[in-house]
Amino acid sequence: MSDLLQRSAPELAALVSSGQVGAEEITRASLDAIDASNGALGAFLTVSRDAALAAARSIDERRKRGEPLGKLAGVPVAVKDALATKDAPTTAASRILVPGASTSDQGADPRAGYLPPYDATVVAKLRAADAIIIGKTNMDEFAMGSSTENSAFFPARNPHDPTRIPGGSSGGSAVAVAANMAPLALGSDTGGSIRQPAALTGVVGVKPTYGRVSRYGLFAFASSLDQVGVFARDVRGAAVSLEVIAGGDQHDATSEDRPSAVFDPASFKGDPLKHADGRPLRIGIARESLEAGVEPAVRAAVLAAANELAKAGADLVEVSLPSTRFGVAAYYVLATAEASSNLARYDGVRYGLRVHERGEPLDQLYKKTRGRGFGREVKRRIILGTFVLSAGYYDAYYRRAQKVRTLIKGDFDRAFSEVDLLLSPTSPTVAFKLGAKTQDPLAMYLGDVCTLPASLAGVPALSIPCGLAAPGDGGPPLPVGLQLTAPAFEEALLLRVAARVEGLLDASGLVRRNAEAAP
Ligand code: GLN
Repeated sequence: MSDLLQRSAPELAALVSSGQVGAEEITRASLDAIDASNGALGAFLTVSRDAALAAARSIDERRKRGEPLGKLAGVPVAVKDALATKDAPTTAASRILVPGASTSDQGADPRAGYLPPYDATVVAKLRAADAIIIGKTNMDEFAMGSSTENSAFFPARNPHDPTRIPGGSSGGSAVAVAANMAPLALGSDTGGSIRQPAALTGVVGVKPTYGRVSRYGLFAFASSLDQVGVFARDVRGAAVSLEVIAGGDQHDATSEDRPSAVFDPASFKGDPLKHADGRPLRIGIARESLEAGVEPAVRAAVLAAANELAKAGADLVEVSLPSTRFGVAAYYVLATAEASSNLARYDGVRYGLRVHERGEPLDQLYKKTRGRGFGREVKRRIILGTFVLSAGYYDAYYRRAQKVRTLIKGDFDRAFSEVDLLLSPTSPTVAFKLGAKTQDPLAMYLGDVCTLPASLAGVPALSIPCGLAAPGDGGPPLPVGLQLTAPAFEEALLLRVAARVEGLLDASGLVRRNAEAAP
């Protein structure tokens, strides 16, 4: 296999811009890698072979004419199927967005999926930066899940051990990067869907501040939490791609225009672990984040990484975020409530699947289409969400969960008045076996305990590989993710510290990058 795809995204873009490597060559390498591995790993739902090659050729021609190229020139990007791509099937891994799915009980084909008439803003921005949209990745249906087993089509598998899940809901994007099918991928993170799969597959994943990136064209799950972010092989790749997709957008009223041109850690001069006045950076470890069902081997890997940071001069302190204990409970009330409203639009009338017999009343069309089109987990969430919003239960559940959310946000505000960043595990466990939690939704939900607090507080957080740990259920060691969390809109600080940690862990031998297991 071509080793081109083991390179970081900014390196590849530099090679293309200087004419050392053609965008077409990189694109073909990516398509070949997908052909070789996707059958075993289930990362992509659809591959945009012809469109990707055409885009690559036009970039190569522009370079030959001496035109300047964008920041991601010729870099293949895998895009989560929850993001609209013009004229390319977009299904959110749901049968309800596959018009013909009603005729077969099994095996709906994502290639027959809904064709959006527009690009999500982040996709348009990637194209404008000369990135190549290579295909759409597998996910939990409507981003509801933590394992990619809720895909209506097929599960994605972890390249380190294909009998195990890659995490979710953006599992396909994580696998595409971890298995060297694409150097970059887009995901969405509502409660951990970028950070957790990044951790479980051994790549970098960033959830930006709520409002940093436009969600226009992201299929809404829980609008007060949803955020688009990136996967990359290294922190610099993540930072440069985040620069490209960040920014305000008139189509998303929650997005804000803040400077993002400072994300690339290579542009930072100085010691990222020191303030400008020489004081060491203070990094907090929340007591609660090391309890909460965290496997001892995961805790040990995270603390070993923290120790490297302390040795390099950071000031590590213990803090407490007491209300985060209620994060899982609050999230699964709020997210299901919002989902029950957002998913009302899939009614069989405007787009996607329609199941209806001639002459039947309209309510039958709704019932049959939604009954047939949504999977079990999506139905469970719509029912839960409708319940917590219903008259008589609203105060007991929804309103109370909103209050808990305010308390959690207060915990972060207090912590960030004492420390610059927070450090924790990203996931309490390493990757588990396919099927291990599918019959136990609560066990699946509890696995989100480390990522949900930052989502509820709206602050940016990322996961970087911090070593390996043996799984509790036996077997060879698997990747562990370290989560760093920053105050709102402090991505520049977050990314340059992450780049420093990445360098320290590389040097210490705790993490061997580019050593992913072949599928
Ligand atoms: N695992 C969480 C859930 O199932 C988060 C998913 C996400 O971030 N999209 O809701």
